[in-house]
Amino acid sequence: MITADSRDSIAQALAIRDGRILAVGSDAAMLALKGAQTRIIDLHGRTVTPGLIDTHAHVADGGLGELYDVQLSDAATVAEIVQRVRARIPALKPGEWLLGEGWDEGKLAEHRYVLAADLDGASPDNPVWLEHTTGHYGVANSYALRLAKITAQTHDPQGGTIDRDPEGRPSGVLKEHAQELLTDLIPPPSAEHRRNGIRTFLETLHREGITAYKDPLIDQSVWDAYRELLDAGQLTEHVCVLWGAGTTLASARAALKSIEAQPRPPDSLGDGRLLSCGAKIFMDGSGAARTAWVYQNWNKNRTELDQGNTGYPLVDPQVYRQQVRLFHEAGVAVGTHAVGDHAIDWVVDTYAQVLKDKPTRGLRHSIIHANIPSDHAISVMAALQRRYDAGYPEIQPPFMWWIGDIYAANFGSARSQRLEPLRTLEARGVRWSGGSDYPVTPIAARYGLWAAVERQTLKGTYGQHPFGTAESVDVRSALRAYTSAAAPQLFLEKRIGSIEAGKDADVAVWEQNLYTLPATELQHLHCVMTLFQGTVVYQAD
Ligand SMILES: [Zn+2]
Repeated sequence: MITADSRDSIAQALAIRDGRILAVGSDAAMLALKGAQTRIIDLHGRTVTPGLIDTHAHVADGGLGELYDVQLSDAATVAEIVQRVRARIPALKPGEWLLGEGWDEGKLAEHRYVLAADLDGASPDNPVWLEHTTGHYGVANSYALRLAKITAQTHDPQGGTIDRDPEGRPSGVLKEHAQELLTDLIPPPSAEHRRNGIRTFLETLHREGITAYKDPLIDQSVWDAYRELLDAGQLTEHVCVLWGAGTTLASARAALKSIEAQPRPPDSLGDGRLLSCGAKIFMDGSGAARTAWVYQNWNKNRTELDQGNTGYPLVDPQVYRQQVRLFHEAGVAVGTHAVGDHAIDWVVDTYAQVLKDKPTRGLRHSIIHANIPSDHAISVMAALQRRYDAGYPEIQPPFMWWIGDIYAANFGSARSQRLEPLRTLEARGVRWSGGSDYPVTPIAARYGLWAAVERQTLKGTYGQHPFGTAESVDVRSALRAYTSAAAPQLFLEKRIGSIEAGKDADVAVWEQNLYTLPATELQHLHCVMTLFQGTVVYQAD
């Protein structure tokens, strides 16, 4: 048993009572605790870890999409995407929306965006919206563009881009806030669909040994769905949510109201199952869309320059600062999405400023993604962590794999070496935690454990290691990022993240031993059993 405690100690057995870990130690010592009703599970030498924790997974939205939308993450060509759209149209009434998600030009044989012109033949009478796997851009067909009144004359909105062909006509691709011109027209999902999406996905989490996650962009309808599942006794995960704060001070105030209506973490609903953890703000866009806010021009196709494009902030930087101050002064944690070096600097400097003005320990303000932090940003994170228990990067190693080919193309060679500098972060004393950003990448944490060590892209378009291996960490560090270093980001470090007496009995059992398996095999780890608060929630055949 890999306990992931502070000494990374190994044990032989554990005892569970009333959903908590009663004791950890040798077989003999644990057997001495057994009573008449005790159930004994012999794992036959398999490996145990704490239940894994994902600090950034859009479970509610992703689970909904998997159930009801066209899934495109494994499409190899534009033609295949068009075919999947065409196949779904007969089931719809004219005018009804067709939604899909998961495409990525980095994985398509054509290495280009899907365009409205590709989709129009397949869907002349229904609006279509296909979201890119990152969620930072998507493509509409012409029918949907007409509904949204997006024409050659439409100006780019603040913090958004309407992609255009050489003649200035909309190509169908909409980036960042330009998406909302269209997506605001899509009818919201029903409460029943919302619940179904989460409930079904909980099984997937259990199958991968994941027992806790942070769902980092919710609104009232998602909160209600979680709450209803909790009340029905069906929420068999620790879920910590961040409420979307929007782009204005008014929208941030509205989010604060929702947050303050719920218990303050570590207090929870349902004995550690549902926590209203704080607010989520977007500082910038995506490395895939080349909208993240960077100091040096974006690259494209690895060696070319995307001249004049350094991305942009998605919220006015001064408004951002006011939003953070609002939450901080209310004692509420903030998680900010920041991918580019410019965005990350702005975020950590903002955290430093509000913490200096109102010193508060333990709010754990985080930097979500933190893809290419500057030296300055890393220093600030280290200082904030020591001084205020804040400034934690929440990083997704599988970006380097699943969207690694488009990332390698856009970041260019030099900047790529600085992507997710895990080893440097650790050397500088910065604690980081891991996640999937599901559905941006697949949910299984084994991909993250593997990617943190191997740093390989899915397709190898620009070689196997376009991000180098100098920033690789070992499996012990990687596992820590999904266990003991992740738990505090959910405000649950007293309950989860390690196998120790008194903690919740969240346990994952693996066919292979993570610490002796060749690192190249980590992505194939096989979970055979998962316990959540002492109950077996998954068991392989
Ligand atoms: Zn995300």
